[in-house]
Amino acid sequence: MSKVTPMMAQYLDIKADVPDALLFYRMGDFYEMFFDDATAAADALDIALTKRGKHNGDDIPMCGVPVHAAESYLNALIRKGFRVAICEQLEDPKDAKKRGYKSIVRRGIVRLVTPGTLTEEALLEARQNNYLAAYSQIRGKGALAWVDISTGAFSVMPCPEVRLGPELARLKPSELLLTEGKTIAQEDALVTLTPLAQNAFDSDGASRRLRAFFQVQDLSAFGHFERAELSAMGAVLSYLDLTQRGHLPYLKPPQQENAQKFVQIDAATRRSLELTETLSGERKRSLLATIDKTVTAAGARLLEHWLTTPSTDLSLINARLDAVSWVLTGGQLARDLIDTLKTVPDINRALSRLSLNRGGPRDLAVVRNGLSGAQILARNLSGSELPNLLQTAVEKCRGHEALLDGITQALVVDPPVLIRDGGAIAQGYNKELDDARRLRDEGRTIIGAMQGTLIEKTGIQSLKIKHNNVLGYFIEVTATNAEKMFQNDAFVHRQTTANQVRFTTLELSELERKILNSSAHCLEIEQEIFDALCHTVVENAEQLYDTASALAEIDVITALAHLAQRHDWQRPQLDNSRRFAILGGRHPVVEAALSENGESFIQNDIMLNAEDGAAITLLTGPNMAGKSTYLRQTALMALLAQMGSFVPADRAEIGLVSQIFSRVGASDDLSRGRSTFMVEMVETAAILNQADTRALVILDEIGRGTSTYDGLSIAWATLEYLHNINKCRAIFATHYHELTQLPAQLPNLVNATVAVKEWEGDVIFLHEVRQGTADRSYGVQVARLAGLPEPVINRARTVLEALEKENREGGNQQTLINDLPLFSATPKEQVNVTKSEIEDRIRDISPDDLSPKQALELLYELKQVLNSPQPGRASKADHVK
Ligand code: ATP
Repeated sequence: MSKVTPMMAQYLDIKADVPDALLFYRMGDFYEMFFDDATAAADALDIALTKRGKHNGDDIPMCGVPVHAAESYLNALIRKGFRVAICEQLEDPKDAKKRGYKSIVRRGIVRLVTPGTLTEEALLEARQNNYLAAYSQIRGKGALAWVDISTGAFSVMPCPEVRLGPELARLKPSELLLTEGKTIAQEDALVTLTPLAQNAFDSDGASRRLRAFFQVQDLSAFGHFERAELSAMGAVLSYLDLTQRGHLPYLKPPQQENAQKFVQIDAATRRSLELTETLSGERKRSLLATIDKTVTAAGARLLEHWLTTPSTDLSLINARLDAVSWVLTGGQLARDLIDTLKTVPDINRALSRLSLNRGGPRDLAVVRNGLSGAQILARNLSGSELPNLLQTAVEKCRGHEALLDGITQALVVDPPVLIRDGGAIAQGYNKELDDARRLRDEGRTIIGAMQGTLIEKTGIQSLKIKHNNVLGYFIEVTATNAEKMFQNDAFVHRQTTANQVRFTTLELSELERKILNSSAHCLEIEQEIFDALCHTVVENAEQLYDTASALAEIDVITALAHLAQRHDWQRPQLDNSRRFAILGGRHPVVEAALSENGESFIQNDIMLNAEDGAAITLLTGPNMAGKSTYLRQTALMALLAQMGSFVPADRAEIGLVSQIFSRVGASDDLSRGRSTFMVEMVETAAILNQADTRALVILDEIGRGTSTYDGLSIAWATLEYLHNINKCRAIFATHYHELTQLPAQLPNLVNATVAVKEWEGDVIFLHEVRQGTADRSYGVQVARLAGLPEPVINRARTVLEALEKENREGGNQQTLINDLPLFSATPKEQVNVTKSEIEDRIRDISPDDLSPKQALELLYELKQVLNSPQPGRASKADHVK
């Protein structure tokens, strides 16, 4: 067995602390990985796997990534579900050597990089929040806490386990902390789950941790928290401590969210309404992507929050709508807002890096540029009569003059990424720094002059003063000229290479020492100034976060106004009634898609008004007529209005909606072991069990995944239940025309249909929703439009006609099946033969040479060819006996 080297012993010791993470072990300019970590990382990153030494007689697998490019590798690993521990050299290798030749450099883990604890720009999506959440249950009560360390937002809410799925679907955290051994329902487990020991969730410890973190005696200043809430928040803090290794980020005091204050939307509804991503998982073509006109990253994140968390607080919604209205009518002043906002960078994320000691001069520049944008904005808006929300936001943009002045004077306009690169601090800001810089720069000029003097003195024209990292500054001459130098005692020999000989002089060494000292001195002073500025910034973090939030809010308001103006959206009227009256409503995403092709969207009214009891529309209509679109646009209308946006309609009156449920379109969920029908029934069950009288429910084609009679019965019973028990506002779309009889028994149910026209056997979609019922579904015509082979379409028509006749006459289905002649598909060529026969005949006709009689005869002849029975081409006369 080979001996473990001291370095490997150190590696194994550190690795033992993070068995679940890949260890990036710093060696000079590389992060190296060993053993299984190396194999896994080489595979995940597609980089070369090499080996280094032996362990227990076996080769040690190794791979590495260069430090300067580490972020992109980290990004790839985190996306593939790895956690990475960063182990740095904690001392200068020279200092290690001082302890003895064989001493190894001290190393330690400085940070554990996990999906929920990212702060780097390269690893984060600028326009999306990145939440770390923790779920805890104490004595049957649950709570969810979540934090975005890249913005400092910290929130908590009571959350019974059944609500966990919907909340996770709303927040989409990247990582969820759970107590060891705890599992959550599979459909909620789309996030990275991180188990933590029970003591991280201990509520007493949590309370202590929270008080210490926020430096308060008592948490009551932030609200009254249940034990489970304390426990979840405590778990978040303890995980941050673990991953950030002592450097805790700045966090805002916890905000207690109240589920009553926002519209409840479950995961299935969010998916089906395609709020933030489409059913195929893309952000493009989602509602968010369609309405997002924000110009700052923080604005985009806030818009997503508003959209995913529509409010039920009438005064908040109206405050937002007032602000949007003001911007819409604000003329040039409002337009200038956008130009100013465009200059505002991401203050939140820069602040979080600065508070974690991971920031650089560019982050300070971000704070500076953001604050200067805030000041311009506040100045431009001062004196205007602003609605409350904007007034408050503008107040928060004021102040910070001293800080802004400080950073502006200290920092160059375009600073480097790292402070150690030098050149971040402006000339004229600090005398000591200016002196040190002069010395450093003069030193360089003096060296240039010294070279000239030496050439003159020695007569060696090719003499040069050069610099390298090993020798520092030296005088270099060719070997042929060296003798002259050796004869002069002033030149001290340093090195002889193949063709050159290198010397120094006392004067040169002295100058070098001065230059080195002054360069190092410059960096030291720059670092000190930078640290002091960072300190001031972090001390002001709370107010700076307030300003950043205010800017984000102004951005969202401006963006919503821009959206309303561009697409002619109107302000909705909201109240506590149970009205739902929309005139000229549109679906924003379908409308946008149609307009790309130069087509226009047909607007429709939506009337779901009820004083008490249900208000349900039963929508029938052909396939492809626009039923799903109409259903979705109804839900989106409520959602947009309650997030505080104008809506795509001529007029909208909406009584506050407390819950939105949508079940539109069927999808298999085989990964969760559920068939289409099962998924549909689970989702329908959730709606019927939860919808209250303020709920808005849209249901499409319930009961389609099973046999006709089973499906019809389920749809029937569901409709009755919604009407009599849930008593909510709903639209129920169906192809079961039998249901259109129900309004006779259910007083709050009305029939509506999407109109079509039939023309020469084809359907033309009018996309107009009208009162009344559809006579049929035109499924066969739509199938034809979709390109089903002609023989299949013809056969389907035959079967349909026979079935409808049978239904009318009350016959026996088995007899019908026996009576229908057997289908044998017509090979395509044969159909074409007939077609081309007619075509050939037509082509041969010379109309000018025909008499009217001949023309008539020819027409009869052609018709006969068309009607002549072809193999497998059953004509109506053949089978309807
Ligand atoms: P199916 O019953 O087959 O599911 P559907 O009745 O639900 O069909 P949708 O999917 O809503 O029909 O709409 C079909 C297509 O019709 C849409 O993709 C859109 O292009 C167009 N459409 C729908 N509504 C409108 C409208 N109001 N104006 C213009 N085009 C529309």
